[in-house]
Amino acid sequence: MVEPWLEELMVVYNRDSFEKRSAYTAQLHLPGNVFEQLVWWALQALPDEILVGLDIDAASPHLKEVEQAFMGEEFDPNIFQGQGFIVGEAHIVNRGDSYSVHHLPEDWTDDMFSTSRGSRAGRFTHWLHTHPNAPAIPSHADADAAQETSGVDMILGIRFSPEGPLPWFDDVDGVRRRVGNEAVAESKPKRKRSFFAGKQLPVLGVAPSGHKIHEIQLIAFRKNGLGINVVLVDEDGFPFGWEQGQFASTL
Ligand SMILES: [Zn+2]
Repeated sequence: MVEPWLEELMVVYNRDSFEKRSAYTAQLHLPGNVFEQLVWWALQALPDEILVGLDIDAASPHLKEVEQAFMGEEFDPNIFQGQGFIVGEAHIVNRGDSYSVHHLPEDWTDDMFSTSRGSRAGRFTHWLHTHPNAPAIPSHADADAAQETSGVDMILGIRFSPEGPLPWFDDVDGVRRRVGNEAVAESKPKRKRSFFAGKQLPVLGVAPSGHKIHEIQLIAFRKNGLGINVVLVDEDGFPFGWEQGQFASTL
């Protein structure tokens, strides 16, 4: 079971994925319980970023009706490895700062293929890393690391408090995708005032680590920079919000 407040955020995220479906050529279905686990891990690992490896669940192809509902006109079934399958369980592979997090410890790379497989050893299909108190926008180091990914790369950005040694860093250009209420997120004060306005940020929920969560962002992309549409699904493979009829096709 996923925390109710997180489930509500996922419904809003999925509605956004649905409304923007024509902007994407491929989709990735990520289970809500895995997503929740990633958020908790991200906060437990502070102040580090974490790198998480994910494989597909080969027994769980995307539900056809769901894939159809979220399909854009430019759909392409051959964008990445593992496409068409729901993501399986997650494994924390590394932690560190925004550069070192991408370079695996030796016990992960110490096999006969390591040199030919690059710094991540080609171990997993998909990769996700976290941006604690920073937006989910890839850095140059992130883009470099993604070159070895056969599936997709994901970035999970979380804004939380107390901030500890990581005040919210927002001076980054790029496209963001918030998990949750756009209206709340857009109404927050401009960045120069955010230091003073910190106490008035909306609290979406509280993590087991005790952190108040103000904002969650999640993006997925291919190594060429192509954005992948993420759909957050329940244990049966249906998107959160599906039974409320949120994603009826309007074509
Ligand atoms: Zn990064």
